[in-house]
Order: sequence, then C-alpha cells, then structure tokens
Amino acid sequence: MTGERSTRSTGGGARANRQPGLTTESFASRISTWQREHGRNSLPWQNTRDPYRIWLSEIMLQQTQVATVLGYYERFLKTCPTVADLAIAEDDTVMALWAGLGYYSRARNLHKAAKLVVERHGGTFPNDVAALAELPGVGRSTASAIAAFSFDTIAPILDGNVKRVLARHAGIEGFPGASAVEKKLWVEAEARLPGCASDMVAYTQGLMDLGATICAKSTPSCLLCPVSIDCRARIDGRLEEIPAAKPNKPLPHRSQRYLIAQLGDAVLLVKRPPIGIWGGLWCLPELGANDANPHDSRFVRQLETRFAITVAAETHELEALEHSFTHFKLRMLPIRVTIKSIHPRIAESGETMWLPLANLATTGLPTPIKKILSNLESRTT
Ligand code: SF4
Repeated sequence: MTGERSTRSTGGGARANRQPGLTTESFASRISTWQREHGRNSLPWQNTRDPYRIWLSEIMLQQTQVATVLGYYERFLKTCPTVADLAIAEDDTVMALWAGLGYYSRARNLHKAAKLVVERHGGTFPNDVAALAELPGVGRSTASAIAAFSFDTIAPILDGNVKRVLARHAGIEGFPGASAVEKKLWVEAEARLPGCASDMVAYTQGLMDLGATICAKSTPSCLLCPVSIDCRARIDGRLEEIPAAKPNKPLPHRSQRYLIAQLGDAVLLVKRPPIGIWGGLWCLPELGANDANPHDSRFVRQLETRFAITVAAETHELEALEHSFTHFKLRMLPIRVTIKSIHPRIAESGETMWLPLANLATTGLPTPIKKILSNLESRTT
C-alpha cells in the first residue's frame, strides 16, 4: 500500500477466532498480513489519511466498481479538493460531477454532508464513528471504514463483500440482507477485530480486498485465501449455499414517454425534482398518463400549450430503450417533435434549458437520457 497506510506495522492483536489445533494466528492477523503482501495497495484513496478523500471514495465505491470510480474520483477532487469547496459548490456542479455514476442520492447526501461538516464541525471531519454515522449517506459500516482509514479507529465494517466473507467463514446461513442474519454478522465482525489500532488500516482494507478479489460470489479462490483453514463453508463444502441468495422477487415494469423537442440543433431539458429518480439532474420532459398520444390530433395542441412552443413538423416515435433500476425496470419511449419557435418569455429558466446536441458529452445527464440523445445526434449528423 502506498503512503502511510502501507508503512504501518502489524500490531499483532489477536482476540477472536483463534482456533487451537488449526492455526495459532488470529483471523485479524492473517487478514492484515495477507493484505500487506497481496492486497490492493496503489488505489488513489489509499495514499492519504485525509478523511474527506477517504469519505468521498467510500461513498463512490458503495455501489460502483473500483475501475469506474477511478476517473470520477480524480475529476471530483480537481473541482472540489476540500470539504469546504464541496460545501459551497453549486448543486448543478455536484450533480454534473456525479452524472453517470448512478444512485444519485449519494451525490445529494454528499453535498448535504459537506455543508454539515462545515457548519457543525468547522470544516474538520469528526473522528468518532457515531458522529460520522450521523452524516447523510454514511451508515455504520461506512463510518467505521472512514474512521479506520483516517484515524486507525477499531470499528467493524460490514459491506456487501464483507458480509459474504464473514457468512462463509462463520457458516452463517440465510440471506445477509435479512435483519436477523445481518445482526449475527455484526456480532462476527465485532468479534474478529484486531486488538491493536495500528492493524486497522490493513485489516479493514484486507477484508474489502478479500471479498472483492478472492471470496468471489461464485467460484471463490479458497486456495489463495488466508483464512481458508478454518472457513466453515469451505470445510463443509457449502460454498454455493452460503450466503443464501436474495429471495426472488421479479422487478415490476414501468413505461414512460419522453419528449424530445428539437429546435435547430438544441433540445429542451427540464430539471428533475431534487428527490427521487435522477433527482436534481437535467432530463427530457416526461409526458404523463393524461397527455394525448402522438396519433391523437390533440397531441400537438397540448404540447404547444404546455411548453409554449410552436410545433413545425410531424411527431416521430423513436426506438424504445430499456433501463433497469434496483426496484423496477423502465421502458423509455422517446417522442421527437421539431419546433418552429418558442415563446421568448419561457425560452430558458432555472428549470428549463435548451441544450445544443454538440454539448452532450460535457453535460451531466442521466446515462439513458444521454444515450437517447446520442442516438438522435448520430441520426442528425
Ligand atoms: S476459504 Fe474460500 S469461502 Fe472461505 S473465506 Fe476464504 S475464499 Fe471465502
């Protein structure tokens, strides 16, 4: 590991999961030693003890792979190098920096939390887990990770990958997202902590690395695992059963019509409400259930009244696009109209804008909206 984290000495704490007859080394000690030798050691957020940078990386990594986060992390820090810079940044700037990473509530919470750190803590991150966990978007596991990486605090983490490692090692049955199972996993996570603070960085990173690279969901590489000797699921041949899969529930389907109102080389965008899907991002206007469909003679009239525009030509229904969210699948139905003129009074406001298609690549839009407009751009060029 680069920087301070890599140079910290192994503390030798050993208070849980030492199994006489199997191994004399504790679970924590084996994980820490393995991490120092074989773990991921050169990620940009490992080269710092700055809680702001560590917090940013932890939030970005919550639902996103390392490879995707790398570029976003660097870009974000260029614009907002400190928590104070983030606190005073415009909403649009933060959302644009996040556009494409998904799960946009993370960006909104990040912004809120930065303001709180400045207002409540004078711009210095609190160094205890409870105070960190009070920040919007920071749960117990993320708070512990920030505290461990920034201050060597001895506190357990339990993200999705770590749940899998602990469930297998301790042989805990059931779906880890179920609260009763999760409770047992927190107990295991507490019991396995190193006794020595100087091991916390390597131990916490080691658990993350093991879950991400060795203890894979399917076909874990147990031969390379530092805790395989006393892993319950491996010994019992139950790697496929533990942890149990999420109970199957088919995702509901929704469909939504989107208006592409095109004036020359620009399209009309509206700002989404701050809460909900794509909250605070620019998006194509949605057509509701009460709006007429494009084959209806009332369609053009309705559009002209609602958006204060004059439609120039026939409307076109473009190819639908499917997009999956965690809770539902969305069938997006774009309808394109060419605009002759717009009412000057509402040409642009804080809630609407006309985006030149040439600026598409540099504007923060939800990924599927960008895709619809890219298709349009390639069709018109
Ligand atoms: S032995 Fe295999 S299943 Fe057990 S923790 Fe290690 S990689 Fe995971």
